[in-house]
Amino acid sequence: MQKEDCLFCKIVKGEIPSKKVYEDEDVLAFKDIEPAAPVHLLIIPKQHFDSLETMGKTEEALLGKMLLLAPKLAKEAGATNGFRVVINTGHDGGQVVKHLHVHVLGGPRPWKKL
Ligand code: AMP
Ligand code: ZN
Repeated sequence: MQKEDCLFCKIVKGEIPSKKVYEDEDVLAFKDIEPAAPVHLLIIPKQHFDSLETMGKTEEALLGKMLLLAPKLAKEAGATNGFRVVINTGHDGGQVVKHLHVHVLGGPRPWKKL
């Protein structure tokens, strides 16, 4: 379920603190530690998946849940005028943390480049 040496698994287990904005049995959302926009949230599955590339048909509902949380959490965090969803995937996709995560960015522009 969780991976020993994974940063986001440690956040799920509470071993590393995070600023949680949402949690249910499958999903956790928290503030990005280095925000690239006034609103910058990360939505992650509690179960470890390396990236979007390793997700399959079994995870269809989980992925749908994560995506549908984006507009709700963006709005609650104050991004009332639109938002951007980013899923960096693999080396060339710029993925640094190898635990699937959905970036939700919003708030008044300009933003830092992501
Ligand atoms: P990515 O480049 O798509 O893998 O994004 C990883 C994101 O995780 C970056 O935006 C980091 O700022 C963020 N991040 C790294 N460590 C933490 C942490 N301990 N708590 C919250 N966000 C983090
Ligand atoms: Zn993990």
